[in-house]
Amino acid sequence: MPRWSNWSGKQQSKIQAQHFVRSEDDAAGLVVACAQQGLRVRTAGAGHSHSQVALPDQVAVDLSGLSGVISTDAEQRTAWVWAGSPIYSLGRPLWEAGLALHNQGDIDRQAIAGATATGTHGTGATLGNLSSRVLAAELITAKGQRLTVTESSEPALFQALRTHLGSLGIVTRLQLQLRNAYRLHQRSWSQGLENLLPEIDSHIAENRHFEFFWYPQTDQAHAKIINETEADCVYPLGDDERLAWSYEVLPSHRPVRHTEMEYSIPAEHGIDCLREIQQLLKTRFSDIAWPVEYRTVAADDVWLSAACQRPTVTISVHQDIGADDEPYFRACEAVFSRWGGRPHWGKVNYLSGSELAAIHPQWSHWWQARDAADPEGIFLNDYMRSLQP
Ligand SMILES: Cc1cc2nc3c(=O)[nH]c(=O)nc-3n(C[C@H](O)[C@H](O)[C@H](O)COP(=O)(O)OP(=O)(O)OC[C@H]3O[C@@H](n4cnc5c(N)ncnc54)[C@H](O)[C@@H]3O)c2cc1C
Repeated sequence: MPRWSNWSGKQQSKIQAQHFVRSEDDAAGLVVACAQQGLRVRTAGAGHSHSQVALPDQVAVDLSGLSGVISTDAEQRTAWVWAGSPIYSLGRPLWEAGLALHNQGDIDRQAIAGATATGTHGTGATLGNLSSRVLAAELITAKGQRLTVTESSEPALFQALRTHLGSLGIVTRLQLQLRNAYRLHQRSWSQGLENLLPEIDSHIAENRHFEFFWYPQTDQAHAKIINETEADCVYPLGDDERLAWSYEVLPSHRPVRHTEMEYSIPAEHGIDCLREIQQLLKTRFSDIAWPVEYRTVAADDVWLSAACQRPTVTISVHQDIGADDEPYFRACEAVFSRWGGRPHWGKVNYLSGSELAAIHPQWSHWWQARDAADPEGIFLNDYMRSLQP
């Protein structure tokens, strides 16, 4: 029996088959065949989620064969892209059309449909997550039909689709809101956390992007600010200083396999929450050397987005893939929850469906739209079934 594994190797399953899709007709035919046999279908992107959200339990679909930019509209600043496109594959062709993503996450290895599925974000208090930039999608439905989903044609399904959690169908194309191509200047430095803490709010307010990693063993923080510039690009790119096009500056290289929990906290509580995580590491988990990451995300109106209706600070904690991460992550989750946190869908959390319902205002609407599109649950894996109201 074939096996499926995520990037970290912490999520693994035995599956009946893996299907590599290279056309929408093939994806549609696969869904019809699976439905006839009573098999459940899970499409994965790059498998970079630490949670079980991508974990297939019967038929795994790989969409990396549907990759690239389909069309661009420079006037409207939009593009249709294939859902299986790794984010790194979009930067150059969009730039050639004079366009760029508004923001990107820490890495650019994810598939665009995988990244939008979970509300993947970068940092920047005025910048929404990738899901908030989805304008439309093409979906293979539970009946094996191709459906174009826009806000006007399918209002509820569209809202659900922006953070689709792999549970509405096979997403084959996405239309994204973009902006004109732009250059960024990045500067990074190290500083003691105690000195940085009083400066955090002004760094957030004064810079397009601000983030830092705090290393508990040394108490040093590695901070980064990034702003737009008209200056000429400088190559090769450095690590601490970069000046180039946005798609070149924003992504980092994260080769060390790890596992991760991340919660979104109302922005006004970010620093207080961080201080409690700092205390936790100093008192109960003093052997952990993995850093804590601090970023910002603008409020949005996306159902199931961790930034839905509130300006957000995200705090991430990491652990070795060989370690038992649960005691540390559960202790962090208790702190995050006290500060009104919402978990990142692509990272570890231990919340039940009813706990998630209590923190996501649109939870029942999302499930109503999902269940109407797929009443038999062909696109639900065991994890999603466990959350179903
Ligand atoms: C090293 C590393 C760095 C990261 N950095 C960041 C970061 O900076 N910011 C951030 O927010 N997150 C970050 N993440 C988390 C990551 O962005 C999310 O987990 C993202 O969802 C992973 O994308 P993926 O393509 O690997 O999707 P997967 O993990 O494979 O899948 C995610 C979801 O999308 C669904 N899916 C994927 N493609 C399709 C499709 N075509 N049709 C239907 N469903 C589909 C899957 O079923 C699943 O539900 C990071 C993760 C790692 C490992």
